[in-house]
Amino acid sequence: MKVEAGMCGDPAKFRRRLLGWYDMHRRDLPWRTNGDPYRVWLSEIMLQQTRVTAVIAHYHEFLRRFPTVERLAAAREASVLAAWSGLGYYRRARMLHAAAKVVVRVHGGKFPASEKQLRELPGVGRYTAAAIASIAFDEPVAVVDGNVKRVLRRVTGKRLAGEELWVTANHLLDAKRPGDFNQAMMELGAVVCTPRAPACLTCPVLELCATQGELAATTKPAPQKQREIHYSLHCRDREIFLVQRSSDASLMPGMWELPELPGMKRTASPSFTLRHSITVTDYKVHVWHAAAPSRCGGKWIPVGRLKQVALTGLARKILRKAAIL
Ligand code: SF4
Repeated sequence: MKVEAGMCGDPAKFRRRLLGWYDMHRRDLPWRTNGDPYRVWLSEIMLQQTRVTAVIAHYHEFLRRFPTVERLAAAREASVLAAWSGLGYYRRARMLHAAAKVVVRVHGGKFPASEKQLRELPGVGRYTAAAIASIAFDEPVAVVDGNVKRVLRRVTGKRLAGEELWVTANHLLDAKRPGDFNQAMMELGAVVCTPRAPACLTCPVLELCATQGELAATTKPAPQKQREIHYSLHCRDREIFLVQRSSDASLMPGMWELPELPGMKRTASPSFTLRHSITVTDYKVHVWHAAAPSRCGGKWIPVGRLKQVALTGLARKILRKAAIL
């Protein structure tokens, strides 16, 4: 069945307005300095489910450790996970590593230049393939992510879904500057056409928009769950006791963390407390200078080696707070 594009009165004007605004106001992000496919790919994978500010902090350090796809492919998985630590959703790091190996082994170290071929790489779905193909190789293919979806729905005034979104995005796309157009759409959604308070008065496509702010979200996000959790911070002679999550754990498999102290009673004060959020849960994390429970497994790790260990984001946060990292 043919899917119709959602209508926007004047696509040519929309492109002009959007790209004019983007040229003047785009954020100065490190992965925008050149169109090297390795850098574009890395930034796109890091940006999935992670805020721009958190990505910037890790992007430079990751590139310092793995400046080329060949260096990434040749690295040990534990080193890749260590460099990823703090970004969360570690499956992305494993897929990134697997894809680097395919690029080197199958494509001789050169990224495939089309969306279709890029989609064959591990961890590269329709959105990521279109982003790399358009930004690094100028292929005229549109992207649809959460920001683009919101902009398209508001501009057309229709509750577009599924394939309709992709058809509409491709209908609007500027074929001469596809990479810039895609980044401009995402940028518009991120900084102007935001979910709750779209800044319509400063929007470059205001006069072409069917809703002009009428579709702003009014429902509040679901409240976060609250949990308290206790961890042992056990040190001796510049070593620290850590446990490794099981390789088949659904979250962060194989990563290292501090041993949990289950059923800890608050009869005394912990050494320190910090807050940590993972998806829908806010944790109050109590850290105790105490030995780990017996039979929890684990290993003494020299403090000097911690930077090479694939730590969970929370473990890294605790060790920083304790001035160990
Ligand atoms: Fe979004 Fe308002 Fe711009 Fe329409 S006019 S695209 S609702 S910011």
